[in-house]
This record gives sequence, structure tokens and C-alpha cells, in this order.
Amino acid sequence: MTVARSMTAATNVASKSTAPSTTSFVGAPRAFSSSAQSSAEFESPFGVNSLAKLTEEEEMLRESVRKFAEEVIQPRVEAMDEAEKMDKEIINGLFEQGLMGIETSEEHNGAGCSFTAAIIVIEELAKVDPSVSVLCDVHNTLVDTVLRKYASKELQDKYLPKLSTDMLGCFCLSEPASGSDAFAMKSSYKKNDDGSFTIDAQKMWITNSEDADFFILFAQGDPSKGYKGISAFAITRDMGVEIAKKEKKLGIKASSTCTVQFDGIQVPKENLIGEEGKGYKIAIEILNEGRVGIGAQMVGLAQGAFNKAIKYAYERKQFGKPVASFQGMQFQFAEAAMKIEAARTMVYNAARLKEEGRPFTKEAAMAKLYASEVAQSVSGSAIEWCGGMGFTRETGIEKYWRDSKIGAIYEGTSNIQRQTIAKLVEAEMGLKN
Ligand SMILES: Cc1cc2nc3c(=O)[nH]c(=O)nc-3n(C[C@H](O)[C@H](O)[C@H](O)COP(=O)(O)OP(=O)(O)OC[C@H]3O[C@@H](n4cnc5c(N)ncnc54)[C@H](O)[C@@H]3O)c2cc1C
Repeated sequence: MTVARSMTAATNVASKSTAPSTTSFVGAPRAFSSSAQSSAEFESPFGVNSLAKLTEEEEMLRESVRKFAEEVIQPRVEAMDEAEKMDKEIINGLFEQGLMGIETSEEHNGAGCSFTAAIIVIEELAKVDPSVSVLCDVHNTLVDTVLRKYASKELQDKYLPKLSTDMLGCFCLSEPASGSDAFAMKSSYKKNDDGSFTIDAQKMWITNSEDADFFILFAQGDPSKGYKGISAFAITRDMGVEIAKKEKKLGIKASSTCTVQFDGIQVPKENLIGEEGKGYKIAIEILNEGRVGIGAQMVGLAQGAFNKAIKYAYERKQFGKPVASFQGMQFQFAEAAMKIEAARTMVYNAARLKEEGRPFTKEAAMAKLYASEVAQSVSGSAIEWCGGMGFTRETGIEKYWRDSKIGAIYEGTSNIQRQTIAKLVEAEMGLKN
């Protein structure tokens, strides 16, 4: 992407940022960037850059999202967690900041940015609140991307502009009896004589569903065809979608997770996404990308816990010194910093591989698996670094640890990632039997 193109996209994000409730930070003038030397300024003399090199647009986005997260989201994190509810102003703020159509084209009211830009946004939001981060992640990397990649032009024109500006989306694959074995779904559809569809579905664990108006739904049309009978549909709440039970969770409590009912929903034939019977392919491909997003969420979470805890440990004095100054503590900080760096590099590498159009399934699975392990271990250590204070809800540090557990579960559990990695390694080594 040229600098001119980058700047256009960033300016475009800025021009949409008319936020009445939240100051506009995204795409703001680059006054904030003067403190740090931008990675965009560095060029390898050999033409191949490190993964720390971001485009100017990506750098701008990181700085502005960081500001938005710290100034607008941070003051509401504790209350949202206690209430187990996302503040509507935060959802509106994400739209107003242009963060809900990051990769969507300008033609469809999006920012036209890179996949890595989306990854950076997810990471920055997670440093402050992993719940807000996953809301933005699911909407961008799953919902928007399914439409951008697989839907007809007609469906894209109809829904993408709204998904960029005010319509929250969710991704409905899992069911009560089908989680890891997602394609054993019971949700079904029938094709009517006029080409439209009647859908009967119950989906469980659906992120964003409480506030969503748009649903990407997977259903089985012909069980005799197995996974090849599955199709994907674009559904809006006003078609008769009902939000049933809302889960009470250990972590990411402000992110809504509900059972969603689609009872006898009538769906126009144009709302089929891609070809009939290709739903499984769409789900598999999209979750490969989505996993890089979850990896980014986990990296941001680990960094957020680390930053908060270290700050406390430098302020807290025991034996006449900051507790952070003891070597026993410093060695732990070093270990944690190293793990975060490794996880971030894996996430960025998977993102860049995807952008280059190269295979990235193994790298995405590794990035998600490793980043979720790092998030758990670093956020757990962060609690201990702060002693009793880390164990209280006051500091917000224990929340990171609670939130970290989900990284090993959604968009494929850690075992499922291991299975994917092992299969691909086997194939690479020609050991497939
Ligand atoms: C907070 C939250 C948000 C979610 N959001 C969404 C969403 O927006 N959309 C959506 O569609 N889904 C969503 N999910 C569902 C999520 O993707 C599933 O929970 C996940 O895929 C695991 O499925 P399961 O819970 O049925 O666990 P199960 O599949 O029952 O797994 C239980 C255990 O068995 C292990 N296991 C299963 N099969 C194997 C195997 N073959 N080999 C080794 N171990 C195995 C698993 O690793 C796990 O440890 C969400 C879940 C949660 C908790």
C-alpha cells in the first residue's frame, strides 16, 4: 500500500469520526507521534523488513486507538465488568472512531486498512479491556470479512456500509451439542419453491448477540451430504431472531454471550452467502483469520496486565526498596517480557503471511495457542507481583487473568489448535499416512 493510499485511508477514518459522546482519536493529526520514532521511517537496505515495521497508517491507528482506549474505555472497564454489560456508548464510540470496518473498502464506509491494522486495533483495545477487544474482533475479522470475501456484490452493498457505521454483527456457528465438532450442527434450513429459505436454528455462545442486529448463520440443508450440506446466511434481527439465555461467565463479562434462536425464519434467496453447500469452507477459512485476531487479543491482554503490574511493583516498597528492584522479581519480568515479544511476533507474522496470500493456517493456530498460554501465565504472574493488591478487584489486574482463560477456548480450543498444527507438520514432513 502506498503512503498516499495509507494517508487517504487514515484521513477517511478521521473524517467519519464525528463522535458526540467520545472525542475523536482515530486518524487524528500526528501530534502524538512526535514522542516515538515511527517504525515506518526505517527501511532495510536489503528490501526485507522486520515484523516490527508497520506502515504509517498502521502506526497512526495504533497511537489513536491507544488514546481512545485509555481515555474513553478505561474509565468504564470496572463498571462494565461488574454489570456484565457492554456500555452502549463504547459500541457507538467504536463505530464513530471508524473501528468497525477496518478492512472494509471506503466505498462501503470502511477505512480500507490492512489486516495487520485490524490486528493492531484488537491488540490495543485488549490492553485496556479484552471484552471491548473481542467485540471489535468478531465484528471485523469474522463478520465483515465473511461478507467482503464471500458475499454477492448486492449483499455487500446492502450490509457493509451499515456494518461500518452502526450495525453490530455476530458469528453463529456453535451449538449446544456441537462445539469443537462444529459441523455436526443440528441447525437446519429448507429451500422453498421460490428459492427463499426457511431456517430453524439454535446457536449457543454467540459473542455480541445481545446488541447485534446482524447474524452470520451456518445451517445444514442436507444431512446426507455431511459437512458439504452446510450453507451460510446473512440474517438481520428483524427477520425474527430471538436472543435467549445470556451466559454468566468467569471472564470477558462485558462481552455478551447468548443463545440465539432462529425459529422458522424466512430468509430471501439473495441472503445466501456464497454458494449453497460452501458454508463449511467459509467457516474454516474465516476462523483461520479469526484466530490471528484472538492471538492479538491475548497479546494485548498480556501486555496490559504486565504494564499495570510492573507500575505497581515499582511503587510498592518492602525492605526499604521498590519490590520491582529485587532480582527475583526482575527475572520474572524478563521472562514475561520475552514471552509477550515472542507471542506478538508470531501474531504479526501470521497476519503478514495472510496479507501476502501465503499459507498461514499453521502459523495462525500456533499464534493463537501460544498467545493464549502467554496471556494466562503473564496475567497470573501479574497478580502475584502485586501481592494482596493484585488479588483484589480494585486494581483490575485479576480481571486480566479471568479474561485470559477464554483464549484457550473460543475459535477452536487449544487442543484443536494442537491438532491442526500436528496435521500440518505431519504433511510438511511427508509423514501423512
Ligand atoms: C465466551 C465464549 C464466546 C464464544 N463466542 C462464540 C461465537 O461468537 N460464535 C460461535 O460460533 N461460537 C462461540 N463460542 C463457542 C466456542 O467456539 C466453543 O466453546 C469452542 O469451540 C469449544 O466447544 P465446546 O465448548 O463445545 O467444547 P467441547 O468441544 O465440548 O470440548 C471440551 C473439551 O474437549 C476437548 N476436545 C474436543 N474435541 C477434541 C479432540 N478431537 N481432540 C482433543 N481434545 C478435544 C476440547 O479441547 C475441550 O478441552 C464461544 C464460547 C465462549 C465460551
